Amino acid sequence: MFDCHLHSNFSGDSQMSVDEACEKAISLGLKGIAFTDHLDYDYPDYEEVFMINFDQYSKFMDQTKLKYNHRLKVLKGIEVGIQPHVLADSEQVVTGYDFDFVIGSTHIIDKLDPYTGSYFAGKTKKQSDTRYLEEVLFAVENFKNYDVVGHIGYIRRYNQCDDKTLRYVDYHDLIDTILKTVIRDGKGIEVNTSGFKGILNTPIPDFDILKRYKELGGEIITLGSDAHSAEHIALNFNFVKDQLKQIGFKTVTYFEKRKPVFINIE
Ligand SMILES: [Zn+2]
Ligand SMILES: [Zn+2]
Repeated sequence: MFDCHLHSNFSGDSQMSVDEACEKAISLGLKGIAFTDHLDYDYPDYEEVFMINFDQYSKFMDQTKLKYNHRLKVLKGIEVGIQPHVLADSEQVVTGYDFDFVIGSTHIIDKLDPYTGSYFAGKTKKQSDTRYLEEVLFAVENFKNYDVVGHIGYIRRYNQCDDKTLRYVDYHDLIDTILKTVIRDGKGIEVNTSGFKGILNTPIPDFDILKRYKELGGEIITLGSDAHSAEHIALNFNFVKDQLKQIGFKTVTYFEKRKPVFINIE
């Protein structure tokens, strides 16, 4: 198994060292991990926290790959936070390094942050869900240098109302357009298990959207914990793998040198 979404302390919001993550992954019996530290241009309020020196990062990851050779496959990834006005700058970083894996994520919508709650102010749930999905659609239509879409339904983590769902049936047109674009472009989506850390108790996206992705012909799916600390690495992967199998997925994917590698789900 591979955990394809991890944040080391290169990201300002993580305290986990690269070695700590690697050792934990080995102890869990994982075959590999992808570090996907943040590139989030123009992140409101936290600009400096999300700006990494990617020269340093890239070199350090290359050394780490060698260090863990034969024990763990270490993949050099990046999680790109996409906003309409940062496409060109983000593209430059992605093409500037030999990343194995690129997650394209929507964290900030209309320059507002769901994490701080500012995004939700003055919106109904329907409005905040819809505007979020429109921005995910914008991202997949306008930023093509990614491998998988990160955590579709991300805002569920921070939504302050009781209903934490983002269901396929409620937004089927938008979700279908997103998924069809992803599939047509030969890209994939991730199943992000960070939802199991808190009260969501489901992956992001939830199984109804994963089921729809499969129905539409989607095959490329990566598993990622989005861990910022070692205890969350590979969180609930066994459960999620069983569910994916029931939905009809035969493989999960990791990316090396930007190419998908398919692993059979046992
Ligand atoms: Zn993210
Ligand atoms: Zn992340």
